[in-house]
Amino acid sequence: MILRAFTALVFLIALGGFPARAPAQDSPANFNALMTELWPDARAKGITRANFDLAFAGLTPDPRVLAATRRQPEYGKPVGAYVNSIVSAGQIATGKRKEIEWRDTFIAVEKKFAVERWVLLAIWGMETSYGALKDKWDMFRSLATLANARYRHPYFRNELLVAMQIMQDGHIPRDRMVSSWAGAMGQTQFMPTNFMDYAIDFDGDGRRDIWNNVRDVLGSTGNYLHKGNWKYGLPWGFEVLVPRDFDFRKSRASFSEWKSLGVKRADGGAFPASGGGILFFPSGASGPGFIVTPNYDVLKEYNNSDAYAISVGHLTDRLRGGSPIVTPWPQADPQLPRDQRILLLRKLAELGYPVKKFEGHIDFDIRDHIRSEQAKFGMVPDGHPTAALLANMGVKAL
Ligand code: CA
Repeated sequence: MILRAFTALVFLIALGGFPARAPAQDSPANFNALMTELWPDARAKGITRANFDLAFAGLTPDPRVLAATRRQPEYGKPVGAYVNSIVSAGQIATGKRKEIEWRDTFIAVEKKFAVERWVLLAIWGMETSYGALKDKWDMFRSLATLANARYRHPYFRNELLVAMQIMQDGHIPRDRMVSSWAGAMGQTQFMPTNFMDYAIDFDGDGRRDIWNNVRDVLGSTGNYLHKGNWKYGLPWGFEVLVPRDFDFRKSRASFSEWKSLGVKRADGGAFPASGGGILFFPSGASGPGFIVTPNYDVLKEYNNSDAYAISVGHLTDRLRGGSPIVTPWPQADPQLPRDQRILLLRKLAELGYPVKKFEGHIDFDIRDHIRSEQAKFGMVPDGHPTAALLANMGVKAL
């Protein structure tokens, strides 16, 4: 799983819009203890001592990285505002130009990996504005800072070791190993383990350069989606309109059943001939509704955020010439902050619903549980978690 770039946040920090307050009391001045602890595992992975020392040379823990862990822009922001900030007229126009500029490469990637160019463009645009936004952080400093703080331990410790292998393999020199604050690299923001699993040398020069080589970038991203089971020709999802008397408890159906229930595509198009999808209201029933397909899950593998996946999906549609989202996003759309989502998940588990993870992600199974609770309280059972639902369920903020 990728921990994505949070490019906007990186930008904000780069512009000085984010206070770089150092948590001095719990932050050591060097990585000596981490290096001592890490070296046996690095050696076991075949990292030479020279490369190990090169990765750490001159590094100190970066308090800005620790500050960044406390904020994730996909959370809390209204979904519509987030989607509109990503799927801008400029982003669409640039994407269309990039499609022309790199058309031969897109054709080659489509042929080899059966992934449409539009979704590759959308991810590329989303992550780094088609390569225009350059990574600014020293990857080893970021990963070492996160590993040292035991943030999401042992995830970043492992990523740090893999980053050393990438450097040792000679794909890119040490001084050009830059990343997002969280260690995501290159034009479509692969974490080091993603690089190992999915990055390919698509232009055949012997190196996998996802930082500077667009052919490698697009080939690697196509490979990633292909290995994630992207289905060629299947939309990620589409906006739908439900009939006036619709029973919002219904969330899963085949396309033919959705049709028989009076659900229609907002753009007037036809449903796919086979298969089915999940009905989803990212801002509740008063906002846009979408039926999403297994390709939506592939986008969420890239970044486990609905706002992210809808933005990438919608940008994909707009690059292809599709129409804007029809239903207005709600004026007020306070998405539950992470701590309240976690409280809700705990409450659902307490009530006997099968909840397995408590990291704050509200997946489609959880939305079905929410529908059941909403129905109990006479609320519209749209599966969207709100403060009003928490109040009805007796969930108290800590
Ligand atoms: Ca290459």
